[in-house]
Amino acid sequence: MNYLPTIGLEIHAELKTKSKMFCASPNISLEQEPNVHVCPVCMGHPGTLPVANAVAIQKVLSVGLALGCAVAPYSKFDRKSYFYPDLPKGYQISQYDMPLTSKGILEIQTPEHGAKKIRITRIHLEEDTGKLIHLFKTEGSSGPERPEGANYSLVDFNRAGVPLMELVTEPDITSGPEARVFAQELQLILRYLDASDADMEKGQMRIEANVSVRPEGTETLGTKVEVKNLNSFRSVERAIAYEIARQSTLLQAGGKVIQETRGWNDSKGETFSQREKEEAFEYRYFPEPDLLPMEFSGTDIEQIRARLPELPQQRRERLFREYELTTKEVEVLVSNKHVGEFFEDTVSELGPRLQESQLKKLIRLSVNYLCSDLLGLLAGTPIKEEGKFKVSPENFAELMVLIHEQKISSPAAKATLREMVATGADPDHIIEEKGYAQLFDESTIEEAARRVITEHPQAVEDFKKGKGASLQFLVGKLMGATKGAANPELAREILLKLLSEE
Ligand SMILES: [Zn+2]
Repeated sequence: MNYLPTIGLEIHAELKTKSKMFCASPNISLEQEPNVHVCPVCMGHPGTLPVANAVAIQKVLSVGLALGCAVAPYSKFDRKSYFYPDLPKGYQISQYDMPLTSKGILEIQTPEHGAKKIRITRIHLEEDTGKLIHLFKTEGSSGPERPEGANYSLVDFNRAGVPLMELVTEPDITSGPEARVFAQELQLILRYLDASDADMEKGQMRIEANVSVRPEGTETLGTKVEVKNLNSFRSVERAIAYEIARQSTLLQAGGKVIQETRGWNDSKGETFSQREKEEAFEYRYFPEPDLLPMEFSGTDIEQIRARLPELPQQRRERLFREYELTTKEVEVLVSNKHVGEFFEDTVSELGPRLQESQLKKLIRLSVNYLCSDLLGLLAGTPIKEEGKFKVSPENFAELMVLIHEQKISSPAAKATLREMVATGADPDHIIEEKGYAQLFDESTIEEAARRVITEHPQAVEDFKKGKGASLQFLVGKLMGATKGAANPELAREILLKLLSEE
């Protein structure tokens, strides 16, 4: 019997705002002392009142509009009651039956079937909880003092009250890789919109998958299982594949899938039972009496729509249209918004002074140097991060022109770029200071070539015996002797001439 999987996702993302969702405490939940960004409101003290963060609301609306969702003309917040040590009020302010925005579509490029439209059910806004840190006694462990032999937990409220959006999809996804592509594309969109940094490792984006299987040829969906704790794209893909296999095997053997929440153990590569699923009524949702309902006019919505930036898919299509790029290059330029912007800023620096045919060559050169050399040198350092990335598009464009005009050789260009990344200096300055200017002077190159020949008699001998690799070795030595400055073709030519005279 063949089983068909049905998958829906629930994705939480912490919104990028200055302050928390309902108070003025800073929205900084990472890499800080615990319990410093707190106030009576987010600590749930009696008598305090929440005030909704307008920027967070606008960011959720912009995500909704970017995904083709309809904005609710009337929306409200609700209380979701449950007790947990990281929830100071004993309830979470969320949205129950009137989410800010709903019914959208995200088209993804699936690995198996090409373009596919995944329907978005809803996107609502809520507040995040605090963070629990569980400490288990292990032999000889250090860390905070604890009662002898006890396991216990600490709670950090810096994250309590941070604005959190929750996006729910329709069950349109049918495999782990599809779920992964959906989540990656959503992450990109959140970053393009500046709605969230959506870094999964930092818990800024968290994914839950609802997975069920049904026998092929039937229409009724099987019992769904919710898988939590998916902290990377890879674990999303693996956990879904595991669940599909587990449920299919269970049904095949005549067993029954129970509706439950399961966790994901990444090192074992398995899901495990956590608890049977609560029904919604157990949360006793009711309208939040301390916050006014929200109303959005057509003008409000159009203003947010007008401010939407170019989105990843639009940028892909435009880059293909405007430049001669491979799919892989477009993906490099789109998957990091700042890399793409750096590329286009470079092109506009090149533009004004060139004819079209020259410009094409220079753009090609820029793509090559950007996608391989520059990104290689950065090794993951985020481009454009304040004070960290020092190369300006103007200087990068200047370097491309110098390479194109053969003012410097390719090894010297790479060395110059390395220096630019380290110091931010302009290429002219570096080339002059380091003596990188390309050498076309035959007598200087010849002098260096004679030295190389004298210093490497074995290689000269090998060359005469017909070993072609020795010539390459000697050219390399000659380039080194001129600090990479010699014009490589000229260097080769001069070496060959001298060797034939030997
Ligand atoms: Zn606060």
